[in-house]
Amino acid sequence: MATSAAANLEDVPSVDLMTELLRRMKCSSKPDKRLILVGPPGSGKGTQSPIIKDEYCLCHLATGDMLRAAVAAKTPLGIKAKEAMDNGQLVSDDLVVGIIDEALKKPSCQKGFILDGFPRTVVQAEKLDEMLARRGVKVDKVLNFAIDDAILEERITGRWIHPSSGRSYHSKFAPPKVPGKDDVTGEPLIQRKDDTAAVLKSRLEAFHKQTEPVIDYYSKKNIVANLHAEKPPQEVTTEVQKVLA
Ligand code: ADP
Ligand code: AMP
Repeated sequence: MATSAAANLEDVPSVDLMTELLRRMKCSSKPDKRLILVGPPGSGKGTQSPIIKDEYCLCHLATGDMLRAAVAAKTPLGIKAKEAMDNGQLVSDDLVVGIIDEALKKPSCQKGFILDGFPRTVVQAEKLDEMLARRGVKVDKVLNFAIDDAILEERITGRWIHPSSGRSYHSKFAPPKVPGKDDVTGEPLIQRKDDTAAVLKSRLEAFHKQTEPVIDYYSKKNIVANLHAEKPPQEVTTEVQKVLA
């Protein structure tokens, strides 16, 4: 295994190797952080995640992105998840708990993680606690992206996604440099099938009924930080930085 990994590195350009080496050296002095981002669809979790991830050298695990990749690849997991996702309902706890348990083993999660869109039910939160207890760690902070429902339709219907990276844009609030193209790769952007006003209604219902109790669950542990997620992106970033400092 080690030999084949080393052999693969022979083809990696020196500049990329050096950049990665410098990143790892910078990361070694960062404190570990285990974070959960909770908020309704469109509240800005996916927008803030890459910034937090780079600052603290964490892995970003977005269950929605993972499930969409499984649906696109038509894996057994994707086939099971598709119908609920298309209808704006939550997929079963067992499916998502399994993918998170597996993903936490990744070396990129060594300094901690950002869970984006998980846990979304109290059962998932309890299972996560068990998973972390087995690893001898616990959640440090829960960032609650608090926002009024009325703001979300415009955010969701104007959202454009770069599927392979999960980067999100907005036709009005965060337009890409070239319309319809990802800023980094130049690849085409897509609109999510469930990013319609009609499906948003079901997704918001699921959020209020099944996910808001998760915020209460963590409030009892005194680890919730409330953000003003209706503010412009840079102001939300400033709030996040204050909370995590
Ligand atoms: P989530 O991951 O919580 O579903 P996103 O981060 O994908 O939400 O944001 C939803 C949409 O709103 C995206 O198109 C994004 O560009 C835009 N957006 C994110 N944060 C803000 C903000 N603070 N103000 C205005 N638009 C935003
Ligand atoms: P998101 O990308 O977070 O908006 O999630 C898209 C869809 O994936 C949701 O509407 C659910 O159907 C499904 N999903 C994502 N995360 C979870 C989760 N933690 N539990 C259940 N379903 C989820």
